[in-house]
Amino acid sequence: MKKVAVLGSTGSIGTQTLDVIRANDDLEVVGLAAGSNVEMLEKQIREFHPRLVAVWKEEAARDLAVRVQDLDVKIVSQMGGLIELARMEESDILVTAIVGMIGIRPTMEAILAGKDIALANKETLVTAGHLIMPLAKQFGVQILPVDSEHSAIFQALHGEKREQIHKLLITASGGPFRGKKTADLEKVTLEDTLKHPNWVMGQKITVDSATLVNKGLEVMEARWLFDVDLDHIQVVVQPQSIIHSMVEFEDGAVMAQLGTPDMRLPIQYALCYPDRRFLKGDRLDFHMLKQITFE
Ligand code: NDP
Repeated sequence: MKKVAVLGSTGSIGTQTLDVIRANDDLEVVGLAAGSNVEMLEKQIREFHPRLVAVWKEEAARDLAVRVQDLDVKIVSQMGGLIELARMEESDILVTAIVGMIGIRPTMEAILAGKDIALANKETLVTAGHLIMPLAKQFGVQILPVDSEHSAIFQALHGEKREQIHKLLITASGGPFRGKKTADLEKVTLEDTLKHPNWVMGQKITVDSATLVNKGLEVMEARWLFDVDLDHIQVVVQPQSIIHSMVEFEDGAVMAQLGTPDMRLPIQYALCYPDRRFLKGDRLDFHMLKQITFE
């Protein structure tokens, strides 16, 4: 049984992580954390019976403690609570599905406690990759990428020698405003910005995808995860989001990972690595898929 703690369990990645756990009998939730969504946390506690739950806001933590007083679960709050969750003795792996740099401290604490990290929280690597990666090496923990592009690269690198990488090719859909002229962009609304053509994600990453800032963050994330310098990382626009990313090796061979846009695949790969498991859902259908284009 692999014991999982989820930081950001009420968000887009967090809820899909719980879907993956629901479908795999050998994965067990031992801890959950969120910002303030106590209604969803209560439902998650009643379904998954975690031993520890951290809520960022103190008032929300007090509210949650009342809601679940009939259950045997400890509720903690603030940064102390997130750290307690990150370090909890019972867990084997921490899924970092929180948004922003607030993920840095819990991630570092989990590494210090010897927990593997399934890392979705890219802001942690963008801002503190120079601290996180050496620390992970020192404590012998694995940083397993959840971001779909980085998971694709990680899968393409399976069994390969890192020193034989020539280039990482990170794909980008181009977001909802691909092809628009400057004048068109002056009129776009928040609603337009939140309409990603291929992925359903949390609001911050969706806005970052529309502005393409997300791709910049992903380049920096890849730089730390795979120890490849920025001159050897290239972004390729692939509007259908079928190729999730690629690696070009010294001999010119290019390995790619393809699939439908479904975050449960990289989440499950990180949680079950190096195993592959059956995953319910749409498959690539090459009769329906007429073309894969690049820009
Ligand atoms: P969401 O906004 O959907 O979810 C964020 C989660 O973090 C929620 O559970 C939220 O709790 C929790 N949270 C926010 N602030 C705090 C805090 N101070 N303390 C504890 N919990 C907190 O984000 P996403 O799931 O979209 O993204 C999560 C991370 O994964 C981001 O770094 C993103 O870049 C990355 N990522 C996301 C992808 C996606 O498909 N969504 C794809 C690849 C990477 P509450 O609900 O209570 O506010």
